[in-house]
Amino acid sequence: MSTQTIAVHLPDGAIREVPAGTTPFEIANSISPRLAAAAVVARLTPLTGAGEQKTGSDEPTEAAMYAAEDAAAPRLVDLSTPLTADTRLELLTEKDPETLKVVRHSAAHVLATAVLELFPETKLGHGPATDAGFFYDFYREKPFTPEDLAAIEIKMAEVVARDEKFVREYELREKALEEFGRDGDFMKTHFVTRFTEPGAEVSFYRNGAFVDFCRGPHVPSTGRVKAFKVTNLAGAYWLGDEKNPQLQRIYGTAFFSQKDLDAHFARLEEAAKRDHRLLGKQLDLFSIQELAGAGLIFWHPRGAMIRKIMEDWMREECLRRGYELVYTPHVARVNLWQTSGHEGFYANNMFTPMELDDAMYRMKPMNCPFHILIYKNSPKSYRDLPVRYAELGNVYRYERSGTMHGLLRVRGFTQDDAHIFCMPSQIESEVAGCIDFAEAVLKTFGFSEFKVELSTWDPNDRAHYAGSDENWNLAIRSLDNVLKSKGIPYKTIPGEAAFYGPKIDVKLVDVLGRLWQLSTVQFDFNLPARFELEYVGEDGERHQPVMVHRALFGSVERFFGVLIEHYAGAFPMWLAPVQIGLVPISERHQAYADKVEAELLAAGFRVKVDARNEKMNAKIRDFANQKTPYILVFGDKEEAAGAVSVRTRGKGDQGSTPLAEFIARAKALVESQSMEL
Ligand SMILES: [Zn+2]
Ligand SMILES: [Zn+2]
Repeated sequence: MSTQTIAVHLPDGAIREVPAGTTPFEIANSISPRLAAAAVVARLTPLTGAGEQKTGSDEPTEAAMYAAEDAAAPRLVDLSTPLTADTRLELLTEKDPETLKVVRHSAAHVLATAVLELFPETKLGHGPATDAGFFYDFYREKPFTPEDLAAIEIKMAEVVARDEKFVREYELREKALEEFGRDGDFMKTHFVTRFTEPGAEVSFYRNGAFVDFCRGPHVPSTGRVKAFKVTNLAGAYWLGDEKNPQLQRIYGTAFFSQKDLDAHFARLEEAAKRDHRLLGKQLDLFSIQELAGAGLIFWHPRGAMIRKIMEDWMREECLRRGYELVYTPHVARVNLWQTSGHEGFYANNMFTPMELDDAMYRMKPMNCPFHILIYKNSPKSYRDLPVRYAELGNVYRYERSGTMHGLLRVRGFTQDDAHIFCMPSQIESEVAGCIDFAEAVLKTFGFSEFKVELSTWDPNDRAHYAGSDENWNLAIRSLDNVLKSKGIPYKTIPGEAAFYGPKIDVKLVDVLGRLWQLSTVQFDFNLPARFELEYVGEDGERHQPVMVHRALFGSVERFFGVLIEHYAGAFPMWLAPVQIGLVPISERHQAYADKVEAELLAAGFRVKVDARNEKMNAKIRDFANQKTPYILVFGDKEEAAGAVSVRTRGKGDQGSTPLAEFIARAKALVESQSMEL
């Protein structure tokens, strides 16, 4: 073995012949000591039959943490791993985002090290990295206190300062099980039993005196966990079963640098300030009423005004783009849901049926079958197509209690829903129209960045998909073509389509960089068949139309929640429920206040006068707390000049301006739907 030579292929095309047993660290060091110091972990890709690296779910499964590595697949390994066969080698540094998870998982080992040093009676569960940081599950009869967590964090800093190497060791499975059994390590015993084979050698990692059952990889030493924080503690039953002992899960996060860590917490703080539930209350926009039930939204006048503007905009755009508006009921006979198939595959998400004298009824979870009934109500010819029905339709879905979240996850919501019925030859232009429309929504409401995903079928799993090959291929090609011709970058996700057709999802990126799933353009080859939809073609024969579902806000409630957080409640002029607050300095300016108000109302603004017998500054403060775009203050001087003193949100006192001039400027902002003031 020691005399054997292996070939290591580097990303620049160079091939190094090295003795078997050479480590990635040694190779890095021979390239440059600087690279060796910067490298976090290595990626090995076998030279034979090497495919793409598997990109599974982001949440680590236990199997992924413990199961033996697949030596035939690309994998991340410690820099200290001896190389035993020809391989491709990449040395990953902090510039490669996947190394952050390695740092975070290593931080979980540091956490467990600290906990055992302080509380040696503790038993270990497991400690994976997550998208936001890491956690470790512990069993200890006494609950950890906030003081304990603070002490643990200090001890972790000591473990990091000791810069202990992470060393991989192997032990026979049976011996490991015996030791864990003797020490009462019931969770480790479980993991080893479940995820390794009898007779196998199992992998451990040691740093200093601490040893953990794990297959890695890790950073080279504890000193590489440079910036971390213990964040919180939560309870969880072992294996999720309440008959099992209760575990204590300690959460933390780690970053490459203190600067990144600080930025992370600044972002969290900013997100908390923008929480739409908090702002919804502060700005009196909406509420959820205990007496009425969870997940049901009450739109207060100020929120309702914004909703009216959103809806007016949407309806007018629909009409401009050749849609027809329809209204449909909130309930229908169960028979309809049987025909549509919802009774079969969607019943778990629907409100339970209610019995009336003539039949069983259900609240609608979707609008589609209703629009289909309108389509079917009169014969259609190819000249009528495309038919585009749009509705701001209220739907009701049964979300489990405890899963609801403000405006984002509710039981009753309003879809800006539309269904397009068209001929196959019209698919591409219809999809292009939907994508245009979706872009207009995002741009108008102030989002410049978005991500697009195209979910397609798995043609090898034909049995799982309704509709003809021809239609699937045509639809996927059209979706592809439209995105390509518009120059929109997108990610194709094969096998992710619903059984009834491919779709495009648009996810917007808000001001904090968070992704929100909103617009969907979804093909449907199933419902037209179930409802036997037809049109008479140019050939005089009956054909089945293609159906497209599309929603652009998605849910009006959810979109509103996203808007509140995106703008932190400081809505642009055209959306603000009250655009202009009027502050007469004293009672004797009331007549002038009436005049200013009348002129602003006549110009179409939403105005509120504060005529209370209060100090001027208190009135200004109240309007400012409501995030009112403009506050106009006036006394003798302004009245004499036919002027107002303008306070602009975010900019402060802008001085005195003739009223007519202010009106012209403010009007232009509304008309251009400007984000600026
Ligand atoms: Zn580990
Ligand atoms: Zn639909």
